[in-house]
Amino acid sequence: MSETLHVDCLVIGAGPAGSAAAIDMARAGLKVLVIDRGEFPRFRIGESFLPRTKRALRRLGVLDRCMALPHARKVGVEISMGDHRYGSRTYFFRDTIGDGEKDAFNMARIHLDMMMMEAARDAGADVRTTCALRSIQSHGDNGIIANTDAGVVHAKWMIDASGQASSLGREFGTRRYHSFLQNVAYFEHFEGVIRPSGPAAGCFGLTVLDEGWFWLIPLDDQRTSVGFVARETLHRTLDIPAEDRFWWAVERTPIMAERMANARGPSRNRVISDFTYRCDPFAGPGFFLVGDAAAFLDPVWSTGLTLGLLAAEQAAAGVVRLSRGARPAAERARYQAWASRVVGRAFELVEGFYDPAFRDLLFAPSQPRELVRGFVTLLAGEFDAIQPATAMRCLALKSMCAVQKRFPFVPRRRPFRLRPDGVTNRVPLAQLASKVALQ
Ligand SMILES: Cc1cc2nc3c(=O)[nH]c(=O)nc-3n(C[C@H](O)[C@H](O)[C@H](O)COP(=O)(O)OP(=O)(O)OC[C@H]3O[C@@H](n4cnc5c(N)ncnc54)[C@H](O)[C@@H]3O)c2cc1C
Repeated sequence: MSETLHVDCLVIGAGPAGSAAAIDMARAGLKVLVIDRGEFPRFRIGESFLPRTKRALRRLGVLDRCMALPHARKVGVEISMGDHRYGSRTYFFRDTIGDGEKDAFNMARIHLDMMMMEAARDAGADVRTTCALRSIQSHGDNGIIANTDAGVVHAKWMIDASGQASSLGREFGTRRYHSFLQNVAYFEHFEGVIRPSGPAAGCFGLTVLDEGWFWLIPLDDQRTSVGFVARETLHRTLDIPAEDRFWWAVERTPIMAERMANARGPSRNRVISDFTYRCDPFAGPGFFLVGDAAAFLDPVWSTGLTLGLLAAEQAAAGVVRLSRGARPAAERARYQAWASRVVGRAFELVEGFYDPAFRDLLFAPSQPRELVRGFVTLLAGEFDAIQPATAMRCLALKSMCAVQKRFPFVPRRRPFRLRPDGVTNRVPLAQLASKVALQ
């Protein structure tokens, strides 16, 4: 039977961002209702995290719970250009500037998200799954009224953490897509994948192609998440079913064909849209947007969860201050400025990856150690607390990029092409994985 509920804050979505916000607000004594239209535990992609994610989870008091779940330590990123022409480059989190976390971890989201949702419940939030937001009747600084599967909810404030569904972004028509980051991801979990080894052991494997890139994420002792992200120019013109595109790309990419030679897993892949967007403004009368509901960035540097947790912390703190009498307009302005700055920095890092000049620098024969440290500190997810030492190094790197573009001073590095005109690099499928479905 439909009820009428009165709460301090309604959170839409019990993913990591929504749960994190709920934990903080419930601990501050607010009455919090979290609704999620899904059923938990549930699958989610996005399994590789940053040192800054670890720090955010530590602050929330859930890092120990996290580390008790199946996971793999992550020490940095190994980058190759698809074949063996330029070898590979490795960037380690241990080189970050400052006293932040010096490593991170990877984990299947089915574990992480369930743990976060339970932690929100333990903190005192009322978390209801298979319970969707249906519509918003009204919103303003004097409260919001929402129709949900639990009934009509009267809340003083609302946090939209509905992920790519972007409930409020859609409602208000504020979602804006990036001009060229309109990718699609094809992925699955496998056993028997050859992972980065030697000095690169424990690294996220990033294989760059002209038309996209591969991720290789060790999840635990056995399982590895492997995905292929295709750029718009490729996925819009490829004449094969979407569920077959992962293996299509693996067969043609020398490094991936080697790594997947003995892989066991599904023969067809999952597919997810990977279009970069933002729903600006990030706050309005009665509400805040956090996580993917606010902005989604191409996942090449694994920034998603970090941004979601950092935004959740800020939005929750804003709601707590409002509950203590802060001025709504001031809180909105503060959050908007914070989110624009932090999301903007992450956007820059992602756009950098797609800039050929930046890739040239990543593969430069010699690299000034201090610039590498600046880059790695950003890579570690320090978007919210960039120290002048990091900012200076990143600025220098940006200037070098601009010079490289016009007057190349390090060799140009063209990534491997999946579709070189008229040439096929295909490795015979028979030589690849046995492709037996995992249990
Ligand atoms: C291909 C790909 C690879 C990625 N790789 C990484 C990575 O390696 N590292 C990383 O950090 N990030 C990665 N990401 C991004 C990461 O997945 C997201 O940033 C992260 O899941 C965002 O968390 P969230 O809590 O904002 O949203 P979600 O985890 O998506 O949670 C949103 C919740 O809202 C619920 N919901 C939606 N609509 C409603 C409604 N109307 N009513 C009630 N509930 C609703 C949903 O059921 C869902 O549970 C990747 C993303 C993609 C697409």
